[in-house]
Amino acid sequence: MKPWEKNIRKVEPYIAGEQPDNKNMIKLNTNECPYPPSEKVTEAIREIEKNTAMLRLYPDKTMAPLIRALARFYNVEEDMVFAGVGSDDVIANCFLTFFNSDKPVLFPEITYSFYPVWADLYNIPYETPHLKEDFTIDTDDYIRENGGIIIPNPNAPTSVYMELGEVEKIVRANPASVVIIDEAYIDFGGESAIELTKRYDNLLVVQTFSKSRSMAGMRIGYAIGCRELISALNDVKNSINSYTLNYVSILAGEAAVKDKEYFDRIRKKVIETRENTKKRLSELGFTYPDSKTNFIFATHKAYDMTALFNYLRDNNVFVRHWDNPLIKDYLRITIGTDEEMEKLFEKIKEFMEK
Ligand code: PMP
Repeated sequence: MKPWEKNIRKVEPYIAGEQPDNKNMIKLNTNECPYPPSEKVTEAIREIEKNTAMLRLYPDKTMAPLIRALARFYNVEEDMVFAGVGSDDVIANCFLTFFNSDKPVLFPEITYSFYPVWADLYNIPYETPHLKEDFTIDTDDYIRENGGIIIPNPNAPTSVYMELGEVEKIVRANPASVVIIDEAYIDFGGESAIELTKRYDNLLVVQTFSKSRSMAGMRIGYAIGCRELISALNDVKNSINSYTLNYVSILAGEAAVKDKEYFDRIRKKVIETRENTKKRLSELGFTYPDSKTNFIFATHKAYDMTALFNYLRDNNVFVRHWDNPLIKDYLRITIGTDEEMEKLFEKIKEFMEK
């Protein structure tokens, strides 16, 4: 052991889905959108290209154009919006800002696997209530003493949506905690809790540009909540790195938010393909919780999902599988284009016939 090693912080990092360098693959493993961003985003980037001298300056640390566009889109005040480098950055800041008690933070046992990583990184105690057998959340599990709550709605990787009334029940029952609803997948059929942030000062809603706005590569996420929560988040952000979003992201993000027509068209298309994929999976004997996301969490009684995962992977079709004993019998399949799903089914059938 080197003499300085004892002073190194040891962490177990989050493991993201793989991003293979393979042009021919069908990539259904990290819930990206299969369609490009809005043409307005391309136009915004072309405008920046004409004036790259701007890049010598630090970006606007208030991210004003993006914050303004989001506030208009969601009909909230500008001081109710915070933005960061993907919702991962936003949520990491939330853990650091809001989860500062000796009491445990609560999040579901099966959920976004980054939550325990942040909790461990910041030494935040946590407890993980079980899901019910059908993967739904029991709201009663979140009505007890706690140091904060974070729940994705819909949940990941289960894809299960919790009705807004249930979300409100949890928020109302916890006036002494910040309740964070991670809405990474809300645009694919759920109802957002953003309106509730006007009535509950302990609620923070987090969303991302990575899924429904086709901009995972740009890394933009945001949070909406009462001005005191947003101000506290900005104080923490400005104690780590004031200039988070770069100049291009701020303007490209603004352009994306302003193109509502494209946003609605793309998510409608993804939902159509998802519903069609559900039917075809059922025909092949798969079962899955009813998805309100851009992915399906599927299992099959007669086939081993690890073997199917490996077969697909060997055939250049990437889906996601976890070794976690609670979910090892499931595959998480991102909704791609109709052609990509066609290819997926071709390979699934091949596997079943073997
Ligand atoms: N929350 C959930 C539930 C997710 O699945 C993801 C995507 N991995 C994120 C947050 C983070 O997304 P991003 O950082 O790309 O905004």
